[in-house]
Amino acid sequence: MTWHVPEEDLRSYARGELAAPALWSADTHLTACDRCRSVLAEVSDPVALDAGWERLDAELDAPRPGWFEALLVRVGVADHTARLLAATPAMRGSWLGAVVGVLVLTVVVTNVSPVTRSPTMFLALAPLLPLAGVAVSYGPALDPTYEMAVVSPVHGFRLLMIRTVAVLAAGLGLNGLATLALPAYGLQALAWLLPALALTTTGLALVPRLGPVLAPSLVGGAWIALLLVAHASADGPLAPFTTAGQGAAAAVAALAAGLLFLLRDRFDLFHGSAA
Ligand SMILES: [Zn+2]
Repeated sequence: MTWHVPEEDLRSYARGELAAPALWSADTHLTACDRCRSVLAEVSDPVALDAGWERLDAELDAPRPGWFEALLVRVGVADHTARLLAATPAMRGSWLGAVVGVLVLTVVVTNVSPVTRSPTMFLALAPLLPLAGVAVSYGPALDPTYEMAVVSPVHGFRLLMIRTVAVLAAGLGLNGLATLALPAYGLQALAWLLPALALTTTGLALVPRLGPVLAPSLVGGAWIALLLVAHASADGPLAPFTTAGQGAAAAVAALAAGLLFLLRDRFDLFHGSAA
């Protein structure tokens, strides 16, 4: 652990005067750091400290750790990382439920519709779901933990990667299950995977420049525009789902992942300027 609550903040904290978002950051950190707790004990008078811990206990009790957070802690994820991860909007029941609903609908339509005889609708939609999942995990308007993420001792890029990997795993897993429900199309029904990786990495790589709302929106819009153009110009499988298209998607995903790595420090700047 390299970040610690500044002593000045701990003094304010002990007096009950530390304001959010620094307060949340201190709360989160104090639950995991003995060193800062002992500094806090030194700078506090005993009565105020008791009041502070009562409030902290109340706050920690308020959102009871769900089964998902408990599971993360059990498999060895650090407490504060587990809390941030469990609080990711895309990891909540409502979001996952919406994704499952969209996938079930698409799979049913694809299976019963004799007109198209191709999984195009599913292939067009599936890559957008992980992108949207990552986007809602990073949009300040939609994410109640955004402030906490901004001031969190977790390195900005590391937090981004933790969340992205979790959201991608959930999104790709659900897409994979949906693919199993389309056995008639065989491996062809897996052609969403590389576009999904390409869209998500490109969306993330553009976040430092365009912000967490515009970047994924533009990437999603570009994907839809590309499909419409491909649909207008070909009778067979759409360009992104041909072998050449899959190769292009893999190349875009690799390039964007490289760009993301090069820009990793910009995510901290981005967080700082947004705060
Ligand atoms: Zn500390």
